[in-house]
Amino acid sequence: MVSKKMLDLGSNRSTIRELFEYGKMRAEIVGKENVYDFSLGNPSVPAPSEVKDAIIDILNTEEPISIHGYTSAVGDNAARDAIAANLNKRFGTSYTRDNLFMTCGAAASLISAFRALVVGHDTEFIGIAPYFPEYKAFVNASGAKFTLIPADEEHFQIKFDLLEKAINKNTQAVIINSPNNPSGVIYSEQTITKLAELLKEKSSELGHPIYLISDEPYRELVYTENKPPFTANYYNNTIICYSYSKSLSLPGERIGYVLIPSEADNMQEVYNAVAGAARGSGYVCAPSLMQKVVARCADVQPDISAYRKNRDYLYNALTEIGYECADPSGAFYLFVKAPNGDATAFSEIAKKFDLLLVSGEDFGCKSYFRASYCVDYDMIVRSIPAFKKAYEAAK
Ligand code: PLP
Repeated sequence: MVSKKMLDLGSNRSTIRELFEYGKMRAEIVGKENVYDFSLGNPSVPAPSEVKDAIIDILNTEEPISIHGYTSAVGDNAARDAIAANLNKRFGTSYTRDNLFMTCGAAASLISAFRALVVGHDTEFIGIAPYFPEYKAFVNASGAKFTLIPADEEHFQIKFDLLEKAINKNTQAVIINSPNNPSGVIYSEQTITKLAELLKEKSSELGHPIYLISDEPYRELVYTENKPPFTANYYNNTIICYSYSKSLSLPGERIGYVLIPSEADNMQEVYNAVAGAARGSGYVCAPSLMQKVVARCADVQPDISAYRKNRDYLYNALTEIGYECADPSGAFYLFVKAPNGDATAFSEIAKKFDLLLVSGEDFGCKSYFRASYCVDYDMIVRSIPAFKKAYEAAK
């Protein structure tokens, strides 16, 4: 016998992966250049040259035993010091290494944060649609309940009336993700301020802190003047889950961190519980070489010009056809209203033109589809006639 919960989790391949596999199969039949695959969120821009230089220099100058050895579970001091210094410079904070726990990417940060906060079978976490579907898998695997707040399909901010109603005595945390996957939208300062006020109010009403888990792998991928507000500066009980998967294009290297501000309620307890949750998941330490890279590259900002070029071209071409898109301020996704109002049906129509789009159903938003524009620019250009045909076929 095996665990049914884990069997289900392992047997149901995500729609995105299914679509990606379908694309590979179609490419063998019609040719790679005739398949327009907008399914995956895999960075298409290589890691900055500073990363390669750092790796080479580390390999050439440091002791192999230290490069490839275990680090302490919380992470290398140098990496945590460099991250704290970078955040302090940019956001006026005063973090030290003791606020940071190095992880194997945002996924590991999230599951450690969830597990750290599960106090019983009744524990609940609230997500806000559209959302990264793994939240639900991680929360459920942690033995807690996941509640989803329906999307604000007008501005893709937060439906506060619904959120307020959903928060109850079992709520341990609200999860946000801005810039957002799949919408590409950034939560405004007004939204973050209002959210902080609501969580403060509810925490005091319920007599326990409601944490804000802020998932920020796209923090540096922003195309507008309005940068995402730094959440921990608005709400003390924020747990930031960060990753270098997107910002430094290192998704396969598995490196990120959890940040717990000193001002958070029961800070040391939360920090130790995150460490315990990671330990209980079989985690030993984040990859040592990558921690050394982060120590040297914490200040490196990605060159987002290729994403910007893709975004501008795709957004302009689609809106010209008649598609309506959510405001694509950040990340590398365009979230587009299905012309027939049903994104799952529409993505099937699009498949007939070898156009691979992810229905918003998985993201908790059925009438929109996601197009990842972290792809080859020429493919975007070639894909426009297929977008036109799919639009006409669906109308
Ligand atoms: N959170 C969001 C919103 C994501 O889009 C992703 C990956 O696509 C992750 C977390 C997981 O990131 P990582 O590769 O760092 O585990």
